[in-house]
Amino acid sequence: MAPPVIGIDLGTTYSAVARLDENGRPETLNNAEGDKLTPSVLLFDDNNVIVGKEALKAIATDASHVAMCMKRELGQRFFRQELEGRHYPPEALQAWVLNKLRLDTSKIVGPFEKAVITVPAYFDEVRRKATQDAGYIAGLDVLDIINEPTAAAIAYGHQQGILDDMLSRNRPMRLLVYDLGGGTFDITIMEIASGAFVALATDGDVRLGGQDWDQRLVDFVADDFLKQFGVDPREDPNTAGRLWRDCEDAKRTLSARSKTTIPCDYQGHASRTEVTREQFEKLTADLLNRTSFTTRQTLQAAGLTWDDIDRILLVGGSTRMPAVVDLLQQMSGKEPDTSIAADEVVAHGAALRAGILMQNDTGERPRFNIKNVNSHSLGVVAVDPATKRPRNAILIPRNTPLPVSAKRTFKTQKDGQNSVLVQIVEGESATPDHCVQVGRCSVRDLPPELPAETPIEVRFHYEENGRLQIKVAVADAKKEIRHEINRENSLTREQLNTWRRFISGAST
Ligand code: ADP
Ligand code: MG
Repeated sequence: MAPPVIGIDLGTTYSAVARLDENGRPETLNNAEGDKLTPSVLLFDDNNVIVGKEALKAIATDASHVAMCMKRELGQRFFRQELEGRHYPPEALQAWVLNKLRLDTSKIVGPFEKAVITVPAYFDEVRRKATQDAGYIAGLDVLDIINEPTAAAIAYGHQQGILDDMLSRNRPMRLLVYDLGGGTFDITIMEIASGAFVALATDGDVRLGGQDWDQRLVDFVADDFLKQFGVDPREDPNTAGRLWRDCEDAKRTLSARSKTTIPCDYQGHASRTEVTREQFEKLTADLLNRTSFTTRQTLQAAGLTWDDIDRILLVGGSTRMPAVVDLLQQMSGKEPDTSIAADEVVAHGAALRAGILMQNDTGERPRFNIKNVNSHSLGVVAVDPATKRPRNAILIPRNTPLPVSAKRTFKTQKDGQNSVLVQIVEGESATPDHCVQVGRCSVRDLPPELPAETPIEVRFHYEENGRLQIKVAVADAKKEIRHEINRENSLTREQLNTWRRFISGAST
């Protein structure tokens, strides 16, 4: 039997799994609790790690043992919060989520390893690698990491039955994908034509999502409570957890109705705060404005106007808020497409992508290609000859179509320089301190007679999956090194294997 074709949307707040059915159509698979969405939340209960709905419930009773929003911290060495006396790397925590998804899914489709996982287009190199590592720890064989908006566009085209049409049109079709989830906001403009999905521009905010809307309600209710009773319900973690759950619930209600009431109990006092949709929209207007600002900027970066956009796709649970639809209508003068299931479409696209990749294995011709752009500029730290200060020398500017190779030549600084250190940075600022340190490598043992200003050639090769290869050559010294990104915070192969055996029990 052919192996199952699986796509995973590993969300900040909710995750989903889809497979391709025997007709090649994507379908969302339920988890063991019978739900299509699994909260990306962990509960540490002595030696047990519980994932999903039960863990989310525990936020109201056992908040200090609950880990959530791990995706926001991918790329850091440790998750901020200590759990049962331990500091975990975020990729291990993400792996627990993936492991549950794998186990639940294998109850339906049988044991499997291969899967495609999605990430926000705005994710940098470090976070992509961490996601791939989380998949490995969870016992998966990660076929590819693809961008969530690309996945959404693929699924949209497939669902509308216009994928082939989109791909073969003479005039390219342009989609704007507005993805507002629980923890991240992502905006991408895609061009689809002649067999390829090309991201024209992408931007976003890794710290903006539905939870920020929840927090506004929490503060609104808690401030009201504080005024009435002189005590703050936010100071007790379990009460704060319960209040947050009630506020998230209220937010969903306000997407369907014009008002609701939020209860709050603390230290023998009880309040009920009424909130109207209008009030809620006022409380959160600045958050929505941040998304419209980024949307306009991205459109500009792509060199387009609203007239050039054929469809607007709404992705992510938070786009169910009526204010989001209104905003896009007002901005664009167009009707956003709401025909897709905002919280399943990304997993569907991932499954379709997995289908393509697994077909390639069998030698069939792929139906479409994906072309991505890099979301952040990549460069190296060089010394400015004029000011003698370090600056970011960009090799690959942001929004460059991938894969791409780039080369820049630098010079040694002094006679007899013994080694050259190449620090790779990611970001738009000219000041390296304001950029993300991606990794470093060095060419050592240069010949002692090497004069100052000897050329050093730095080559980058950046792949569509986000992997960066570096080649540094000091020509006169016949020295060359090759290097794959050495992430400052990444786990070693040995550590990955230890986590893999511990979390998924998979062989290494
Ligand atoms: P992510 O991909 O970031 O994990 P999702 O796309 O699953 O997130 O969206 C989750 C967010 O959507 C949560 O903040 C949730 O509160 C919000 N959400 C879901 N349904 C609704 C709704 N009906 N109205 C408002 N917000 C909603
Ligand atoms: Mg999402």
